[in-house]
Amino acid sequence: MTASTLSYLFTPPAPASIAIVGHETRFPVRRVFCIGRNYEEHAREMKATVSLDAPVFFTKPADALVTDGADVPYPSITTDLHHEVELVVALHAGGRDLDAAAARAAIYGYAVGLDLTRRDLQAQAKARGTPWDTAKGFDASAPIGAITPATQCGHPDHGELRLDINGETRQRADIATMVMKVTDILVSLSTYFELRAGDLLYTGTPAGVAALQRGDVFVATFPGLADLRGRIV
Ligand code: MN
Repeated sequence: MTASTLSYLFTPPAPASIAIVGHETRFPVRRVFCIGRNYEEHAREMKATVSLDAPVFFTKPADALVTDGADVPYPSITTDLHHEVELVVALHAGGRDLDAAAARAAIYGYAVGLDLTRRDLQAQAKARGTPWDTAKGFDASAPIGAITPATQCGHPDHGELRLDINGETRQRADIATMVMKVTDILVSLSTYFELRAGDLLYTGTPAGVAALQRGDVFVATFPGLADLRGRIV
């Protein structure tokens, strides 16, 4: 059977996709990678240590993404939903064992995102040595703003990443204080996975993570990138 004659039991869902600033076309998402413990002050507040040799990578399903302006339902099974504001990198190319130049060339653009976390389930998983999926990869766990192409915003290596909840600043830090820089993360990630066009990377959160409640309004910003706005319902 050739591809053109394949038939499916039910209609496959359309790929998750994200708006691109200044473009009609959307960015189709393949996979969502995340790195943990990438700002020292945040690692300290989590009582964790930072290791350049053994970065903490995890993933979220692509359909966990929530686009700008949409409501985010408070998830089940938790009483401690936390915000983590992060710079997100979007790839239009990939490969294995990338060098720094290839990693940089694979970057299409940048966005602001939230790595929402069931902190109580994550603490249980850490204590039990079990996987983080239910703590990190739940439905609607990855709000993300529109992607700004690097051709417009360049490749930012400094600037203030910030999250306001109900008008009060909860997290703010310069991305220059990342433990692993963006290209170094991609170089490392590409030794574990063959990266491909459509992959996203959440690059870790600075200090100040805290609980969200139903009704909270969030605004995440980074200079030169589209704001991310939404509400917990
Ligand atoms: Mn995170």
